[in-house]
Amino acid sequence: MRPEGLAPLFSSAETLTGVGPRVLQFLQKAIALPPGITDPRVIDLLWHAPHSVIDRRAEPALDEALPGTIATFAVRVTKHSGAPRNSKAPFRVTCEDETGTLTLVFFHGDPRFISRQLPIGETRYVSGRVDLYGNSLQMTHPDYIVEPDKRDTLPLLEPVYGLTAGLSPKVLQKIMRQTVERIPALPEWQEATWLGERAWPTFSDALRSLHVPTDTDDVSPGGPGWQRLAYDELLASQLALALIRQSHKAQRGRQVTGDGRLRERILAALPFPLTGAQKRSLTEIEADLASASRMLRLLQGDVGSGKTVVAMMAMAMAVETGAQAALMAPTEVLARQHAVSLSDLAEATGMRLALLTGREKGKPRREILERLEAGDIDILIGTHALFQPDVAYRDLAIAVIDEQHRFGVHQRLALQAKGHDGGANVLAMTATPIPRTLLMTHYGDLDVSKLDEKPPGRKPIKTTALPVSKIEKLLDRVRVNVTDGAQVYWVCPLIESTGTSELAAAEERAAHLGKLLPGKVGLVHGAMSGRDKDAVMAAFSAGDLRVLVATTVIEVGVNVPNATIMVIEHAERFGLAQLHQLRGRVGRGDRQSYCMLLHSDRLTETAEKRIAALQDAKRGDDGFWLSEQDLVLRGGGEILGSRQSGVPVYRVAEVPGAQDLLEAARDDARLILERDPGLQSERGTALRHLLYVFECDEAVRLFRAA
Ligand code: ADP
Ligand code: MG
Repeated sequence: MRPEGLAPLFSSAETLTGVGPRVLQFLQKAIALPPGITDPRVIDLLWHAPHSVIDRRAEPALDEALPGTIATFAVRVTKHSGAPRNSKAPFRVTCEDETGTLTLVFFHGDPRFISRQLPIGETRYVSGRVDLYGNSLQMTHPDYIVEPDKRDTLPLLEPVYGLTAGLSPKVLQKIMRQTVERIPALPEWQEATWLGERAWPTFSDALRSLHVPTDTDDVSPGGPGWQRLAYDELLASQLALALIRQSHKAQRGRQVTGDGRLRERILAALPFPLTGAQKRSLTEIEADLASASRMLRLLQGDVGSGKTVVAMMAMAMAVETGAQAALMAPTEVLARQHAVSLSDLAEATGMRLALLTGREKGKPRREILERLEAGDIDILIGTHALFQPDVAYRDLAIAVIDEQHRFGVHQRLALQAKGHDGGANVLAMTATPIPRTLLMTHYGDLDVSKLDEKPPGRKPIKTTALPVSKIEKLLDRVRVNVTDGAQVYWVCPLIESTGTSELAAAEERAAHLGKLLPGKVGLVHGAMSGRDKDAVMAAFSAGDLRVLVATTVIEVGVNVPNATIMVIEHAERFGLAQLHQLRGRVGRGDRQSYCMLLHSDRLTETAEKRIAALQDAKRGDDGFWLSEQDLVLRGGGEILGSRQSGVPVYRVAEVPGAQDLLEAARDDARLILERDPGLQSERGTALRHLLYVFECDEAVRLFRAA
């Protein structure tokens, strides 16, 4: 159980004053939430670090004020100059100190309200940007006007947060100030000497000063506070991994030695033979499952390399021995697609397959859970729903995690912990090549199988780039091809047009295409309900719809072999890895496929290079080469790789020097467990708090079992 003292951090953001349903919705958009969490909690807000501060500490005399800068002044009000009625002229308030005068300018303000805030003869602190108008100093709409005895309420260093439309800085700041009140005092989990050497503050102080800074360093990723939090997070994840390794060693795995009968049936039902790489990976998986220790294996294979069949065969091994298997995917769409595409194979072989996502609720969900616990389901496919607390498996032997980089360590653990004796064999799958160091941070030691050979008969996708001014040509080509029977994906990066924004709108595009091809165009986007999404996907899959306009919801894993044309609008807005993944939705059958990158007429140098890389005749379809190029083009600024995967794996650890911190954390974790394998010492108890703060709950649980 999570220690009582941490409860305030994990309470819902709705417990804060000013957070009602509307603000909650804005927060959901503005704040990065860990996968599986939909309602922001206090801790999620606390991890929403400001990206900069407004420095109001300068308090010059008026004759020393620097025009164009932000400053705070103590001034006396001398005059109100009201605008004549109905005129557009602003209301002005003249102020002075011993050295000069300052005019405060208000457009469309209520003069009575302003006069009350700034009564003649009184002293006020005003803070904002000063400018020179002719010879006189002006401040238009001061950010703050406070009375002398309330000076403390003026934030001399004001944090600036990433926002979303509808959420104003002042509202968010007010919420943030409350979250800071919820930070509990916690036992120190870092070593005193280590803290002393680096002059790091306590966890609570570091987190507090991130939101109530007293120095610009407090909100800088290179500053001592942030560095400490980064180290805390890295230590938590390294400790969690070390605990997994420890419990791996301590416990035997669920040994799986099937007789091959189900696998034979699968092979007979497949319309193709396995590639050499698929066979090799399966031999490796078989050996892992047959051994007494648990499997932790990563299956790496570029998009379209055929990972799903390998997963199905691996799951069949478990079912052959009378155990169960689970397949977890990061999105509802993908989970459903897996369930649909694998249900034929399951039926052909007599395996009982079921689907469990956030959408299965009430009675249907209860029924699935009952059958699962009774062992009447052999393979369960789903999303995060697969590891919720009330989900119990009769005998889970293998957990397959598709697109593993979309999940955090603890989510993987949570599913794994549902297994036999608290630890299922794990097969993690990815299309994104991951550097070795990054693998270490996410897994510690693990084995890797590579699908380095694509199924035969695939023709390389022909990739061309086209400036958006030539779109008519493209539309015409799409119309002709669709009339000839082709199916087309059309990807746009946003849902609604945002007035002046030049971003293409998926909705508008769908309407436009629908006029050219009546009744043949569908639209999917992230804001649609799951059911609606399914209906459109199914219609496209069945060929009733010929063009699927989509936001990036189709990015991951969707498989419609008949689709041969991929159009990506605003290609310059996507990363290289993402473009490659998107493009991988076509070229899955034996017909020639095409990818059209539609880009703005003017490209940055980097965007141009990215687009050129995808068209590279020799290596442009090699996902491993492309991801190397991606790193090169980004200037290698990113160390821990969370941006590469598209989902932040760490909440605060992306800081300068992270690589060094990571290595230190790895050594520290190893040492901690050597000295105190049961985390029983005083520091051990504190470290349990650390694990809970960073939501490695499952690791603590595992470790208790050890
Ligand atoms: P990914 O590795 O991207 O998940 P999938 O598993 O979705 O790829 O497979 C892509 C396509 O290739 C599917 O249509 C699948 O049926 C097909 N496929 C998989 N293995 C082979 C094979 N050995 N020979 C021919 N086609 C295959
Ligand atoms: Mg896949």
